[in-house]
Amino acid sequence: MVIARASIASRLREILPPDRVIDDETTLLPYAYDASFWSLRKRRLPDVVVVPDSGAEVASVVRVAAETGTPIVARGAGTGQTGGAVAARGGIVVSFARMRRVLEIDRTDLQVVAEPGVVFADLTAALAPFGLFFPPDPGSGRACTIGGMVANNASGPHAVKWGTTSAYVLGAEVVLADGSVIVTGGERSKALKSSSGIDLTKLFVGSEGTLGILTRLRLRAQPRPPARAVVLAAYEDLDDTVRTIDDLFAAGILPATAELLDRTAVEALMKWRPDLGLPTGEAVLFVEVEGTRASVSSSVSEVEDIVKKRAQVTQRAEEEAAIQRLWQARGGLAAASSLVFPGKHRIFAGEDLSVPISEIPRAIRRAREIGAETRTSVIFYGHFGDGNVHSAIVIDPTDADQVRRADELADRLHRLALEVGGTVTGEHGTGAVRQRYMALEHGAAYEVMKRIKATLDPHGIMNPGKLFEAAD
Ligand SMILES: Cc1cc2nc3c(=O)[nH]c(=O)nc-3n(C[C@H](O)[C@H](O)[C@H](O)COP(=O)(O)OP(=O)(O)OC[C@H]3O[C@@H](n4cnc5c(N)ncnc54)[C@H](O)[C@@H]3O)c2cc1C
Repeated sequence: MVIARASIASRLREILPPDRVIDDETTLLPYAYDASFWSLRKRRLPDVVVVPDSGAEVASVVRVAAETGTPIVARGAGTGQTGGAVAARGGIVVSFARMRRVLEIDRTDLQVVAEPGVVFADLTAALAPFGLFFPPDPGSGRACTIGGMVANNASGPHAVKWGTTSAYVLGAEVVLADGSVIVTGGERSKALKSSSGIDLTKLFVGSEGTLGILTRLRLRAQPRPPARAVVLAAYEDLDDTVRTIDDLFAAGILPATAELLDRTAVEALMKWRPDLGLPTGEAVLFVEVEGTRASVSSSVSEVEDIVKKRAQVTQRAEEEAAIQRLWQARGGLAAASSLVFPGKHRIFAGEDLSVPISEIPRAIRRAREIGAETRTSVIFYGHFGDGNVHSAIVIDPTDADQVRRADELADRLHRLALEVGGTVTGEHGTGAVRQRYMALEHGAAYEVMKRIKATLDPHGIMNPGKLFEAAD
C-alpha cells in the first residue's frame, strides 16, 4: 500500500508529538544530503522526518512504515560518504538527534551502554573520567554518531592496533522491519565475550540500516593508554614504507597507528599549514606508539632506530601538544586538498580502497597513472598500517566533463582495489554508490546476504536503494 505524504505525516503525529514530525519542504531539505558526491548530484527529499526520543517510539514509527509499505531510513549525523542516510526512494527518515544519552559506564566490566545518537566525541568525553576510551576513531569523530559508526563498521587511524567498530559491539537493541524489537548479544548479558548462538550482533554491524534500526548499543570500552609518541619520517622510495612496516612487525612491534601521506597530500598540507614544516619526498609516514610512560619512551626509540634504516626521521614528538599539532594537521587534509587546485573541490567518490599492506605502493602508483589517464587531480593518503588508502578526487563539480572523468576514475579505483586483492571500501561502506561491485567482490556470498535481507525485510522497506539494489 502506498499512501500520500500528508497521510503518513498525520499517522505519525498520532504517535509522536507534532513538532517531532517534519514534513515541510524547507525543513526537509538538509535531509536530502550527506557527505557523498552522489547526494549532491540529485536532490532526494524524504517525505517525512521523525525525531523519536526512545526505542519504543522508533518501534511505533517502524510499525507505521510496515503497515503502509513506506521506506524507512535511519540517520545519525549524515556524515556518511555513500548516501546511506539519504532516502533514495523517499519515505520516512528517522533522526537520532534526541537519542543522545550515555546510559551506563562500567569500568570494571569494560563497557558502556548508549543510545545511537551519541556523537563519538561526546562518548570519548564521557569515558575519559573513567580512564576508558572507545578505540575506533573516525576522522569525522566530532560529528558522527555511534549508531552511524556501528551501521557502517567505521574505523580510523587506530584500527591497525585496535581494530574496527565491529570488535567493540557487544550487543544491540534492534527494531526489525515489522516493528518488533530484539536484543542481540544476550538480553541481560554484561559478558565481554560469548559463543552462545549465531552472532546476530555482527550481522547488524555494517548492515547500513538495511536489516533493522539500532536503538541501543552495548559497547566495549578499553583502558586508555596514558602516553603516546609519534615518529615522522620522509621516504624517497614508496616501497620502503612497506619495508619499514615489515621491519617493525619483524621486531614484534605493532604500532598504534601508521599513517601515510603521499607527496600530493604533503603538498596540500603545506599549502594550508606551512608552519608544520613537513618534509618533502615520495611519502611521509606518521608512526605512533602508545602505552605507559615508561614503555613509550623505550618503544619510541626502538621505532625510530628501525625507521631510520630506510627513511629520514624528521620529527619525534613526545609532548602531547606537539603530537596533537601533528594530528590536527593530518585531520585537516580533507579540507586542505582543495587548496592545491584553486576553483576545484574535493568530492567523496572512490575514496576508500583498502588493499593488502604489501600492495599499497603498487596500488598508489597505478592509481596515480589512472588519475593521469583520466586527467583528474587526485591526492592519496591513508591508514597505511591496515592498507586503507584514501583518494581525494578534486574537481570542479559544475563542469560536466570533469564529472564524467571523475566517475571513470572512481570506477577504475574500485576495480583496482579488487584486482590487487583488496576491498572497494575499508571503512565508509557501500550505501548507494558501491552496490555494483558487491557481486564482483563477494561472489556467491552476496547472494546469501540478499537471502538474509529478504528474510528480515521481506517487503524491502529498510533503507531501499542501498547495498542490495542500485539506486537511481
Ligand atoms: C570529513 C569526513 C571524514 C570521515 N572520516 C572517516 C573515517 O576516518 N573513518 C570512517 O569510518 N568514516 C569516516 N567518514 C564517514 C562517516 O563519518 C562514517 O561512516 C560515520 O560512521 C557515519 O556516521 P553518521 O552518524 O554521520 O551516520 P549517517 O551518515 O547518518 O548514516 C550512515 C549509515 O548508517 C545508518 N544508520 C545511522 N544510524 C543508524 C541506526 N541507529 N540504526 C541503523 N542504521 C543507522 C544510516 O542509515 C546510513 O546507512 C568521514 C566522513 C567525513 C565527512
